[in-house]
Amino acid sequence: MKLIESIEEMQSIAAAARQAGKTIVLVPTMGYLHAGHASLLTEGRKRADILVASIFVNPTQFGAGEDFNTYPRDLERDMRIAEAAGVDYIFAPKASDMYPAGYQTYVNVEELTLPLCGASRPGHFRGVTTVVAKLFNIVMPHLALFGKKDFQQLTVIRRMAADLNMGVQIVGMPIVREADGLAMSSRNAYLSQAERESALCLSRALHSVQDVYRSAERSVETLRKLALGIINAEPSAAIDYVEFYHEATLTEVEQADDHTLVALAVRIGKTRLIDNCVLGEE
Ligand code: AMP
Repeated sequence: MKLIESIEEMQSIAAAARQAGKTIVLVPTMGYLHAGHASLLTEGRKRADILVASIFVNPTQFGAGEDFNTYPRDLERDMRIAEAAGVDYIFAPKASDMYPAGYQTYVNVEELTLPLCGASRPGHFRGVTTVVAKLFNIVMPHLALFGKKDFQQLTVIRRMAADLNMGVQIVGMPIVREADGLAMSSRNAYLSQAERESALCLSRALHSVQDVYRSAERSVETLRKLALGIINAEPSAAIDYVEFYHEATLTEVEQADDHTLVALAVRIGKTRLIDNCVLGEE
């Protein structure tokens, strides 16, 4: 496995690989890797000749007052995890190379970025789509893997790749959870022991909604009340949103069906956590 920090070097490796007829898969991450990232890397390993993992805490997707400076970073540990998963190249560019003085070009996906995290984190998806577009131009992947943990991000990136004819196949991967249900996230590192317990209200709420949906309840009003009740019972939990949307259009629904996305964003103390499920899926 090789660590590449230079954009030009990564681009020439990718161009040479393509010239030689090799396929490239990219797994973009912000590092501090966990089993959720590892599942993407393991799947990526099977899907192409060359597996590239990018590690870049992207400043343009953090708003003022968000956790860009404190976001957990540990490149050495990440390199060990990536190597064990069969990564060929870690691409870890410097922010000053990705966004040099004078930088002024951004990619914006419109309607899909308005609700959910787009509403609570203005500018977030503009930063995400911009950095992913740049990574695609640098790594030149045939396909790229993203987790459904960030469901809206996956939807937005699929849209961008299709709308801009990027020629990159976007693959969505299932959410990896801790044994007790907590969705894995680099931000879980912020949680104290007590907060870690409270954080289980997200997966518990999703689980209960899914159970009740399976017992034939279709009213979103009823299902939402159930989720709100479970989360509001946690004193340290503050709800950002609890939404029931169509999984493809990300528009609100009143009657639940198998395509209903239940999306949660909840602050546990100072840590903002997201989780989701699609009612028709396991
Ligand atoms: P991040 O480093 O948080 O930007 O995540 C990098 C990629 O890993 C994104 O495509 C995420 O959706 C994905 N990811 C993060 N956590 C999980 C998880 N628990 N299960 C599956 N994929 C995940």
